[in-house]
Parts: sequence; C-alpha cells; structure tokens
Amino acid sequence: MVTVGIPRALFYYYYFPLWRDFFRQLGAEVVLSAPTNKKIVNQGVALAVDEACLPVKLFYGHVVDLIGKVDMIFLPRLVSTARKEYICPKLMGLPDMIKASGIALPKLIEVNIDMSKSDRALKQAALALGRYFTNNELRILRAWNLAKFSQQQFEYLQADSGQLALEALELWNGESDYPRLQRQEERPRIGLLGHGYNIYDRYISMDLIQKLQKLGAQVVTAENIPADIIEEEAARLPKRMFWTLGKRQIGAAFHFLKRPDIIGVIHVASFGCGPDSLVGELIERHMRRAKTMPFLFLTIDEHTGEAGVVTRLEAFWDMISWRDAQCR
Ligand code: SF4
Repeated sequence: MVTVGIPRALFYYYYFPLWRDFFRQLGAEVVLSAPTNKKIVNQGVALAVDEACLPVKLFYGHVVDLIGKVDMIFLPRLVSTARKEYICPKLMGLPDMIKASGIALPKLIEVNIDMSKSDRALKQAALALGRYFTNNELRILRAWNLAKFSQQQFEYLQADSGQLALEALELWNGESDYPRLQRQEERPRIGLLGHGYNIYDRYISMDLIQKLQKLGAQVVTAENIPADIIEEEAARLPKRMFWTLGKRQIGAAFHFLKRPDIIGVIHVASFGCGPDSLVGELIERHMRRAKTMPFLFLTIDEHTGEAGVVTRLEAFWDMISWRDAQCR
C-alpha cells in the first residue's frame, strides 16, 4: 500500500480530516509527522529562510520528519479557500521554498488550490489530486464526497459542539477516543485568538490551552464560532479584509466583545507574520476602544521562553478573575 505523509503543521489544523479520508478512500495509508518537538523545530529553523515566520519554519521540520517513512508527501499550494479572498503569500510560495531548500524529498503530491474566482476550482483540485492514485473519476469523486463529510463533522464538532480543534484532531488521528471529547464543564470563558497552527500546536504554544484550562478557564477560539457569525462580524470593518485567516480573527474578536460570558481575550501572533501585524493592530485598537474587555497580546517565535509566557498568563488570569468576581 502506498504511504502518503502529511506534515503536522499549518493546514493540518484546519483540513486534516478532509485530506486523510480522501487519500484513504483512494487506497493510501496516511502517515502524520510526529508532534512538534525540539528536533523538528531545530531542523525547520536550520533549513528555512530567516525571514520566514515560525509556522513556516516548523513546516520544513515536519517535512524532514516524514522523509524515509513515506512514499509521497502531500504539499499543496494554498492560494485561496474562498471567493475574493487569499491565504497569506508565504503559504502560496511554500511548495517552491520547500523544493528549493535542497532537502532530498520523496515524490510530492502537488496541487494548486485557488478558489478566489470560483468554488468549482476545489473539485478540479480534487480530481487532479486523485489522479496520483487512479484515473477513475467516479472513484475520485466518491472519495472526495466522503472526505468532505468527515471535514463537515470535524467543523461541526468545533462550531456547534464547542470542541477545540486540538482535541477533535486527536480523535481523528487516533490519538484520543470519543469520551475525551465531552464538553468542558461551565467555567469562566477566555476568547483565544490566533492561527490554528500556533494555538493548537502544543509545543510552540507552550501548551497555552492546557495552561488556561488548568488555571480554571474554558477556552473559546475562532473555530468555535459559526462561519456566518464570523462573516457578519468581519463585515463591520470599513474595508473588506481579503486575508481569510485575518478575517477569521477579526470576526472572532468582534464577536467576543459582544459576549458577556467572555471575561478576557488573548491574541497569539507569530513574530515575522505580515498579516498578523496588521490584524493584531486592528484587534488591539478595537479592544482598547471598547474599554470593556481585558486583553493580552502574545508574540511567539522559536526563542520565546516558557517562563515569561506563564508569568504573563497567570498575572492576566488573576486580574480577570478578580475583575469578574467584582462584577458579579
Ligand atoms: S499568516 Fe502569518 S503566521 Fe501564517 S503562514 Fe502567513 S506569515 Fe506565517
């Protein structure tokens, strides 16, 4: 059986159920790179260009981790996942950067995903991907429809059942079982903003979600908010945000500001991220203007020390818990 490697980085945190089930339906065995660890970070940092943000550097490390373990590595070029919107330029150029890095790569599964002009581009991309395994279009489309169903379930678990992507993914990749996926009991809620590949990666986020949960918080992320609410909230910006991931953060931030059950908001941004510098500024400005929501901004890169993050987190938690108690 042919083995397909999927790096546990970047869009793994958004689309793993789709890709996993698609490749499986086409007869492949899917292998994930190991959870991020020091070796993967060091390999990524050593290979990537200095200007790359931490998530992109990490992606290199995850690709290297798969070498020798799989026949092919999935390396899509994500240009756009929605009409008139774009993913960040670094992700568009990622396959070129990986191929130019000098790494001895196995066969790559490459595809261009650009839905900026039409949703039909996704079906074309699925057909192109499927042809790596079979020329039977019916079989490819059947596999695609089943995979889309898995993706819908994954998104439903987050947006409608309040499940965090991290735990839902552990279920999908077999590292957890269903009982762990029960809803958290009612606790003070913190809105956590940030790209999925930062906040759900336990190593680079320094277990931020687990730390908040240990302090007694229930964490709510942008992925826990239905897409129509994100759209509606982001549309309040005077100018349309055409960066998909940025729009998601802005929409979630505006939504958190309206929710009386959210007692504080934390925004995690990547050092060296162009879109984050704009989006972070916008979010901070709106939070400060509203004057009602305690707000903490954290920037992470490969040098960020855990002790500093813990200190700031605990101080923030003490402050908002005290404030919440005063307001009751
Ligand atoms: S959006 Fe920012 S963090 Fe994400 S890949 Fe692009 S530059 Fe990096």
